Amino acid sequence: MKLYTKILIGMLIGVLAGFLVGPNSSLMPQDGVRLSGSAVVHSQADGASAAVPLATGLKAAKIESRQGEWAQVTWELSAPELLKLKKAGVEGSSRASPGQTLSGWVVLEEPHVTTYATIGQSLIDWTEWIGRLFLALIKMVVVPLVFCSLVVGVASLGDFRKLGRLGGRTIGFFTLTTVVALVIGVGLANLIQPGKWMSDADRGRLLASYESAAGSTVDSAADAPSLADQVIGIVPTNPFHSLAEGEMLQIIFFGLMLGIAITLMNVARGKTVVEFLDGLNEAMVMLVHVAMKLAPYGVAALLFKVIGTTGLSVLMALGVYALVVLLGLFLHGTITYGVAIRFGAKLPYFGFLKAIRPAMLLAFSTSSSSATLPVTKECVEDNLGVSNQISSFVLPLGATVNMDGTALYQGVAAIFIAQIYGMDLTLGDQVTIVTSATLASVGAAGVPGAGMITLAMVLTAIGVPTEGLALVLGVDRLLDMFRTSTNVVGDSTAAALMARLEGEDIRVVSPEEDAADPKHGFERTMEEPHPVESQHVDED
Ligand code: ASP
Repeated sequence: MKLYTKILIGMLIGVLAGFLVGPNSSLMPQDGVRLSGSAVVHSQADGASAAVPLATGLKAAKIESRQGEWAQVTWELSAPELLKLKKAGVEGSSRASPGQTLSGWVVLEEPHVTTYATIGQSLIDWTEWIGRLFLALIKMVVVPLVFCSLVVGVASLGDFRKLGRLGGRTIGFFTLTTVVALVIGVGLANLIQPGKWMSDADRGRLLASYESAAGSTVDSAADAPSLADQVIGIVPTNPFHSLAEGEMLQIIFFGLMLGIAITLMNVARGKTVVEFLDGLNEAMVMLVHVAMKLAPYGVAALLFKVIGTTGLSVLMALGVYALVVLLGLFLHGTITYGVAIRFGAKLPYFGFLKAIRPAMLLAFSTSSSSATLPVTKECVEDNLGVSNQISSFVLPLGATVNMDGTALYQGVAAIFIAQIYGMDLTLGDQVTIVTSATLASVGAAGVPGAGMITLAMVLTAIGVPTEGLALVLGVDRLLDMFRTSTNVVGDSTAAALMARLEGEDIRVVSPEEDAADPKHGFERTMEEPHPVESQHVDED
């Protein structure tokens, strides 16, 4: 069975399990409560009784019994929880001991109180490590792979004009498609007006349950450096530090400069460096193949968690908004990329999508274009024939700055939140959304939820309250999967288009060729090791 089929099956299992046996599944007994922000636990089921101080800051509890809208909840104080309470100076915490059972009453209808299935949560706790292990294995390869392949790619270009041309065209294409994505998103949000579809009750509930999460998102956005700092910050003061910290733009800059320097130096010595890095690069590719063996299990575990913890009720309240985002991503994916793939890269559209299928599936399940990068690179090189020179430059840059899906989503989200607050946006405001979301998508890192953080900047630019982020947070993780897939398709489209413009002979590798030639696709043989040096010398 092909790897992408296995990944697809893993995804299906994860999604189904999330819906059926996840913590928010209506098929499971909802026997636990999650308390957020300012939820109050009372000592009696009457509302007038005193609050239970020790319950402050405790997040989850078990429901023991129900009495109308009230539920009696209990939880056992764990040692770390008790430490936290003591540190916060909560009343009574100094006399409490670990393992002590507390009980109190909560109102189930309160927006700060949500119910969940404790068995579903335990299932997530038990399986979560598989997804995390898989992600860690793939991420382990990203920095060395980007660095080695970029230096080798640039050093073998041998022509700086080509590099300048490639850089100019790539950035031009990235900017153009991001603006088109935003025009689609802003246009649809104005046409469909998703904000008009939300009831006041849903609005209040969402604002209350996500207020604290929205607050911390805004805090992260406020720490963002200025544009000038960001531009200067691309030049690393210590490249080893950048490599250690995975600062992608700095790594790209250093890789480019090193590649250029190698081209300028003594040919023989330069060749030694390139050969070493090339060998390392190949080893990294092999590591990706090894890690991908875990992919079907990893994506199942990742999706089980995401789907299992996304409440269906949130999805219903935000349904129209989510549909507008999805429609926008679909239009951008088919029309904008369709034109670039068919007429620019001169490749069949569906053949192209088939070639990058593993990358799309991985982007969907990890919500990280950076983590997907090694697989995207393999797909465009092995299944489309894009050269390492092009892919090693376009893809890492794309995974860091080119996020059309993110930009489109930010455009829709900003207008949706403004509509809910009853604010009329002028044409000038809409243009501000396009420009600020273009920058915000460039500033977003290729990691889960990054677009949500930089959305705060877009909201500030048009004067919409940033607390409004709480309105869209509930479905953010879900939409992230779709916008990350769009981002990865956008990067792959750029790589194919640039390769075609540079005169490369790219084409979709057929399944037969893929099966016959171990150099193509993810089915590359790993079963036959090629030791560099024979370990045992036969004496006879
Ligand atoms: N998760 C997205 C990516 O990695 C960024 C975002 O929109 O949050 O491409």
